[in-house]
Amino acid sequence: MIPFLDLNQINKPYIQAIEEASLRVLRSGWYILGNELKSFETAFARYCQAKYCIGVANGLDAIGLILRAYDFPEGSEIIVPGNTYIASVLPVSYLNLRPVFVEPDLCSMLIDPSKIEEKITSDTKAILCVDLYGRSCEMKEILSLAKKYNLKVITDAAQAHGALYDGQKVGSIADATAFSFYPTKNLGALGDAGAVTTNDPDLAERIIYLRNYGSKERYKNEFQGINSRLDEIQAAILKVKLPFLETENERRRSIARRYLAEIKLNDLILPPGDRINFDAWHLFVVRHPDRGTFIEFLDKMGIQTNVHYPLPIHKQKAYAEINHYHFPITEEIHRQVVSLPLNPVLTEEEVTYIIEAVNQYQQ
Ligand SMILES: *Cc1c(COP(=O)(O)O)cnc(C)c1O
Repeated sequence: MIPFLDLNQINKPYIQAIEEASLRVLRSGWYILGNELKSFETAFARYCQAKYCIGVANGLDAIGLILRAYDFPEGSEIIVPGNTYIASVLPVSYLNLRPVFVEPDLCSMLIDPSKIEEKITSDTKAILCVDLYGRSCEMKEILSLAKKYNLKVITDAAQAHGALYDGQKVGSIADATAFSFYPTKNLGALGDAGAVTTNDPDLAERIIYLRNYGSKERYKNEFQGINSRLDEIQAAILKVKLPFLETENERRRSIARRYLAEIKLNDLILPPGDRINFDAWHLFVVRHPDRGTFIEFLDKMGIQTNVHYPLPIHKQKAYAEINHYHFPITEEIHRQVVSLPLNPVLTEEEVTYIIEAVNQYQQ
C-alpha cells in the first residue's frame, strides 16, 4: 500500500538532529518563551521575507489572534472562501464576527476575486483568503480591492509554507498571515504549533501580548489575552526542519510536474499547472465526477487517497444556522475532489505506479 502520508518516513531524516535539539531544551530548564522560540521566529520571518514572526500554539489560534489584534467591532463582516477547512472560519465565528462566504474559482478552487466586491458592505472589515492546497490566492486583485474599500487582508497559509506569488513569499504579502505547523503540513512540528507573520510592528506587538494573557510586563496586562504559546521543544524541532523546507517543496514540485504531464484520464480534472514552480503543493487535488468509484479503484490498486474536504462549512452541523445556503461551485468541488499522495518521501517508482494506476482507470 502506498500510504497517503507516512509521518515516520517524513521525519526519519531529522531524527538525530531532533533528538539533540530536544535534549538541549530538556537540559536547559527553560521550556516556554525562551531563546529557542526567538531563534525560530527570526529564522521563519527571514524565510517568509517578513519583518515579524510570532510563534503561537497552533494555526487556529494564529488566525484568531490576528482577528483579536485588529479588534474589529462585534458583528463586523469578514469575507471568507466557501471552499476551505473549517479552521479558517471558526475564529471569525467565535469572536462574534460574521463570515461572509465567497464562491471559489472552479479551476484553482481558491476564492474567486471577481466575486468579492459584490459582498462588500459598510460592515466589511477584512478579507480572509486561504492559500488552500499550497497555492497563493490572486493577491493582486485582493489587495487592490482591500485598498479601495480600506479592508485588512489576512491570509490563512496553513497549507502554503514557501509558496510564492509574483516572486514574493506567502507570509509577506497580506497584512497578516497565519501558519500552522501541525505535523502533516509542509513544515510540521511533532505536536501542535503555529505562527503569525506580518510587516506591521503594531500588530506584531499586540499579538506578542495577546498570546500570553495580554501581558506586556509580567503581571501587568494591557489586554484580555489568551494562552497560545509555541513551546521551546517544538520551536527547536521546527528550527531543525526549516532549512530543508525549500528542498522538500522542490521535491513536491517535481512530483506535481510529473502528475500534470503524465496523468491522462478522461473526466479527471487536474489542478492548474501555471504556477508549478511557485506553488507549495501541500496537496495534489484532482476532481472526478464519480469520486467514490475512482477512490475504490485506487484503493484496490494499493494507493491511499484522501478527500479535502467532503462537506463544506455551510453544510456542517456546527453551522446549522446557514445549512440552507446554497453555494453551487463550493458544493460541486466538495462532491468531486480527491487528493492523490504527494509528499517529499514518495519515490520515483511510487510516482510512476500512481500515474499508471490512474491512467488505467475505466468506468
Ligand atoms: C491545518 C489548517 C488549519 C489549522 O491549523 P491547526 O494548527 O490544526 O490549528 C487552518 N487552516 C487550514 C487551511 C489548515 O489546513
